[in-house]
Amino acid sequence: MQIPAAFDYVRASSIDDALALLQQHGPESRVLAGGHSLLPMMKLRLARPEWLIDINELTELDYIRRDADVLRIGAMTRHTTLLESPDVGRLFPIVRDAEQVIADPVVRNRGTIGGSLCQADPAEDLSTVCKVLRAEAVIRGPNGERVLRMDEFHRGPYETALEQTELLCEVRLPVRQRSGSAYEKVERRVGDWAVAAAGAAVALAPDGTIEDAAVGLTAVGLEGTATEAETLLRGKRPAEELFAEAGRAAAAACDPVADQRGPVDYKRHLADELTRRVLRRACGRAGAEREG
Ligand SMILES: Cc1cc2nc3c(=O)[nH]c(=O)nc-3n(C[C@H](O)[C@H](O)[C@H](O)COP(=O)(O)OP(=O)(O)OC[C@H]3O[C@@H](n4cnc5c(N)ncnc54)[C@H](O)[C@@H]3O)c2cc1C
Repeated sequence: MQIPAAFDYVRASSIDDALALLQQHGPESRVLAGGHSLLPMMKLRLARPEWLIDINELTELDYIRRDADVLRIGAMTRHTTLLESPDVGRLFPIVRDAEQVIADPVVRNRGTIGGSLCQADPAEDLSTVCKVLRAEAVIRGPNGERVLRMDEFHRGPYETALEQTELLCEVRLPVRQRSGSAYEKVERRVGDWAVAAAGAAVALAPDGTIEDAAVGLTAVGLEGTATEAETLLRGKRPAEELFAEAGRAAAAACDPVADQRGPVDYKRHLADELTRRVLRRACGRAGAEREG
């Protein structure tokens, strides 16, 4: 299939207008952001919305703002804007790492952070990034605003806590002292979806030990973060053997499936190796002195 089923189209002029249109057109309406996930799904007839509500004119959802110890990112912020933002690169190098390997410039110029998180594709890179950064999702609907943690927002593959009448408006990233983060992905060719990827964020205590750590994996069947790996990292001094232990724990926690991108053993090996690498880089970026 290359041609979507027939649909109607309307442009929202404000957030309130988009919310009113979602209510008016009901369950068969869908929001259109960058369209780089929704339109391919429509062409394959995996999605058959009767109404597309285009939110591309909502410039009020396209921003990156530092507000004390939080970085606020509007849902319509494009991948390219994230990639090129000096604030994002300095505070959250993991976002830049991931954006460099998401698709190609054509997709990055249109695709949005909101669309990426709402699509909830298990191979989607920014979902892992937002999980390990302990991001919050700000949602607006007919009953006002609510704020969810990422583990509450993502309910499983292609499933979020968003009601049909709600809009994801903002992603909040907490800024932490002495922190570092990193993302690394293995893909079959440049611009492809991940065979496997890993993301890590660490915050160091004043004595150089790891105060907090988060480890996430992409495309290998890990919901949430690798909690066992995180537990064994906390309170320890960054060291190669510690990263190896965390890598083994993350690999044991995931549940990859064999497909055209590779067999289970290979993907599990990647989960282990990529976890070690991102922990090493995240700790280095946080200014850690590494042992071993
Ligand atoms: C060739 C190609 C390669 C790609 N490679 C990668 C890759 O390597 N890694 C990766 O992570 N991604 C990849 N992508 C996906 C890309 O990042 C998309 O931009 C992203 O998944 C969806 O963002 P979007 O803005 O295009 O959303 P859309 O396609 O417009 O929307 C996706 C879904 O989210 C809903 N939605 C969108 N915004 C909101 C909102 N604010 N509130 C409520 N619901 C909303 C829509 O209704 C729809 O259901 C690729 C895409 C293509 C076409």
